[in-house]
Amino acid sequence: MNAAACPTGASPLATAVPASRLARIGLALRRHGRTIRMIQWAVVFVYLALLLIPAALPLPPEDARLFGHLGTIAQFVFWGIWWPFVLISMVLFGRVWCGVFCPEGALAEQASRVGLGRGIPRWLRWQGWPFVAFVLTTVYGQLVSVYQYPLAAALVLGGSTVAAIAIGLLYGRNKRVWCRHLCPVSGVFSLLARLAPVHYRSDPERWTAKAGGPVQPVNCAPLLDIRRLHGAAQCHACGRCAGQRGAVELTARAPSEEIVRHGAQDATRWDLRLVLYGLCGVAMGAFHWTASPWFIDAKQAVAMWLLDHGGERLLDTDAPWWLLTHQPERHDVFSWLDGLMIIAYIGATGLVVGAVLHLLCAIGARLLAQRPAPTAHLSLAFVPLAGAGVFLGLSALTVSLLRGDGFVLPWVGPLRELLLAAAALWTLRLGWGISGRYGAGLHRRLGATLLVAAGAGFVVWGWALLFWLW
Ligand code: SF4
Repeated sequence: MNAAACPTGASPLATAVPASRLARIGLALRRHGRTIRMIQWAVVFVYLALLLIPAALPLPPEDARLFGHLGTIAQFVFWGIWWPFVLISMVLFGRVWCGVFCPEGALAEQASRVGLGRGIPRWLRWQGWPFVAFVLTTVYGQLVSVYQYPLAAALVLGGSTVAAIAIGLLYGRNKRVWCRHLCPVSGVFSLLARLAPVHYRSDPERWTAKAGGPVQPVNCAPLLDIRRLHGAAQCHACGRCAGQRGAVELTARAPSEEIVRHGAQDATRWDLRLVLYGLCGVAMGAFHWTASPWFIDAKQAVAMWLLDHGGERLLDTDAPWWLLTHQPERHDVFSWLDGLMIIAYIGATGLVVGAVLHLLCAIGARLLAQRPAPTAHLSLAFVPLAGAGVFLGLSALTVSLLRGDGFVLPWVGPLRELLLAAAALWTLRLGWGISGRYGAGLHRRLGATLLVAAGAGFVVWGWALLFWLW
């Protein structure tokens, strides 16, 4: 919509009250939808180039400098910069990445413009997909060494992009059905965005009163009920609804507000599973196994047992590269046993870490309220620590790539300590805030917070093993 279309001659996005600076940013995003689409196509172009060209080239030589070969450049950009800083952007700005920059979302929406436009089937609306897709992608990425090899990256990321386009061609019209229901990282982004200090908020009373601004329906690509918008979890922060009916604006908030205040209604058991079993557990296992002495001991013990019991077949290394890492020229070849042990190690870490945290949250929740105990709500206290862990795990690759190229980074260790400590304190702060929502008295509130503290200590110990103790 443009200003010329407004019969009064005033800006069609004008609201009845003067807009704050933040609100004006939201309105500007709405006005500049065409520019955003151009940005999205530019990102699509860069994304496809980084994904496909290195996959078509021979592997970089083992002694290739970081910025001396397109393959190493793509590896550094994708895994060393892109992913870690997309995670940070979620916590700082909400899901602006999804709404303004994400190439997969843009392609999915574009596909749905020309696709069949079918209704979204029930199986696709299942709330567990973000958890399942995250776990499967994480484990599969480790099996094919997605961080190391361009072909593996093209397979995992490119496969996800092809699936996003296919879903766009089948379901929805001008929508991002993939992003809303199936994207492997949408659940993670939804958790982290709840910590953002800015969000789009709708005032239902102003909405009903049509308090100014445009009233024509807005195309909200992730299919949200804009009238009742109160959080950043699912909102892609695209700005298309800014100023709608004079009721929607980009606004600041306390970073803990969405989790503490709205978590009782918003948190689901799938949120709990994703944050405790997925982000705290499975992700930790995925970053742990290459450095873990437990993994090596267990693998050797199983290998000996197999040799004694006629199971040599599992020691063969004839799996195809798209199933298990197979790069003989790099002396990097996984046996079937490697693959099974990686799955077992990541799965066991996910289950143990998740179960311990789940138990602590369940006891804490019972201290706060009997039925229903707010276990899912309390589990959201772990979002900062879960996000920090994944960021540290991903950025470990950034650090090792830079160090491998001769960069001296003495500040990395202290920075990691600082980040983990800050995230743990934030988790405690959220635990205390959530516990205060149930009117359970000081002792019970303290008890629940101490249980969250115990869980936070357990997660910090898990990351300390990787960075300092092994
Ligand atoms: S509610 Fe929908 S249209 Fe509005 S900013 Fe969020 S994603 Fe965009």
